[in-house]
Amino acid sequence: MKISRRSLLKSMGISMAGGIFINGVSSKKAFGDEKGMPKVHRPILPSPTKKRVVILGGGYSGLYCATTLRELAPEAEIIVVEKYPFFVSGPSHIDIVAGLKHLDDVTRSYDPIAERNIRIVRSEVIGIIPDEKRVLTASGDLEYTLLVISTGIRIADEDVLNLIEQPASNAHAWELGETIEMRRRIEAFRGGKIVITVPTAPFKCPPGPYEVACLLREYFDNKKIKAEITIVDANDKPQPGPLAQKWTGVLESRNINYMPNSKVIEIDAAGRRVITDKGEKVSYDFVSIIPPNKAATFIKDAGLGDPFMDVDPSTFKSKKYDNIFAVGDCAKVPYTKSAFTASLQGKSVAHQVARALGTDVSEPAPIYNICYPYVSSEESLMVRADWDKDGKMLKADVDDPKKEYARSRAAWERGLLSGLFGT
Ligand SMILES: Cc1cc2nc3c(=O)[nH]c(=O)nc-3n(C[C@H](O)[C@H](O)[C@H](O)COP(=O)(O)OP(=O)(O)OC[C@H]3O[C@@H](n4cnc5c(N)ncnc54)[C@H](O)[C@@H]3O)c2cc1C
Repeated sequence: MKISRRSLLKSMGISMAGGIFINGVSSKKAFGDEKGMPKVHRPILPSPTKKRVVILGGGYSGLYCATTLRELAPEAEIIVVEKYPFFVSGPSHIDIVAGLKHLDDVTRSYDPIAERNIRIVRSEVIGIIPDEKRVLTASGDLEYTLLVISTGIRIADEDVLNLIEQPASNAHAWELGETIEMRRRIEAFRGGKIVITVPTAPFKCPPGPYEVACLLREYFDNKKIKAEITIVDANDKPQPGPLAQKWTGVLESRNINYMPNSKVIEIDAAGRRVITDKGEKVSYDFVSIIPPNKAATFIKDAGLGDPFMDVDPSTFKSKKYDNIFAVGDCAKVPYTKSAFTASLQGKSVAHQVARALGTDVSEPAPIYNICYPYVSSEESLMVRADWDKDGKMLKADVDDPKKEYARSRAAWERGLLSGLFGT
């Protein structure tokens, strides 16, 4: 399926001005009264006649939960609520930005999921009323027996002064529309200062910012375009912790400047500078601010946790409600915010949900992560972390950049995709 950039953005309801439209309605219009609760109260579907599991978010964690649960609890009604019409694989945002892949390569239709008797509802979730077991969406309400929240992270632009008012000043690889825009800017870049800023951990894909810096270094060197690249990092060392030393060597060898302990709190778009909490002013010609990562605001509004949803890391169950679970990037768990752990978390929570439905299922396997961060288009590092069933980290192994790890990376992502979509 060939999808053009323009038609994809249109079908996803993203305008280049940043507005989101759901079923043709501006999301702002879905919000009504002074308490922020929507005016719309019509049900999307009739009340459930059998046990209904509603999964919010059709990313890696939500879809692995849905497909695993389909096997474990064949009788249950399973509904996934997703705001976008297509699935786009998260790890490949880096490849798209670096020009290594096209959107088509990593975009999948939700049809193969729906064919497994999993209903996909395309709408944006805007609230949860736990005491009424009800989800509010831009298209109407949905009742549930059990709820799984898997909406990933939200980019908290509001935490960087002037960023909301100056949306055109920034582009990053942490959201689809932004990724497409960042690629466009990279192609238009003719030389100068590039600044990449890193938020305080935890954030989605901890090695990502350093991978982007390395791939840009390679890309501009190949094009003979002079680029001075600086990473301004809110953390005291490159992420994730076990890779810090390896990254320090890699960044030095690639002549990438690194400023630790420098949290960007403001952008001065007119002056082309970012300003840190220590008052440092860093000039740029091209800036990529990765704002703080948080869970969706409806999680906070429902009292389920802030900035991430509070859960027991061994069961993914809410600390407040026995019938609500959260997995993947939106959950406050010790696991890396990655596609790999999100997929395993999705499978694991499906076992917990099946148990809550009364099905006798085996103990899910403990979570681990394996990741192959790029240092160039041909070489990757390797990091593997293992946790016990209660979320205590047992060990982390790392290894130097190798070509075979770059090949493993490609096979690894293909495996995650084919586990869901068959291709
Ligand atoms: C640049 C980059 C590089 C990465 N590289 C790697 C890597 O090398 N290895 C790795 O393992 N991981 C990597 N990741 C991380 C990985 O993509 C995420 O950690 C993973 O996708 C998290 O899965 P999730 O299911 O929790 O959330 P997501 O995959 O983000 O899925 C959440 C879903 O919920 C939907 N949603 C959100 N809000 C709403 C709402 N209100 N209503 C309805 N639907 C909603 C979204 O549209 C989305 O489909 C990378 C990510 C980025 C950005």
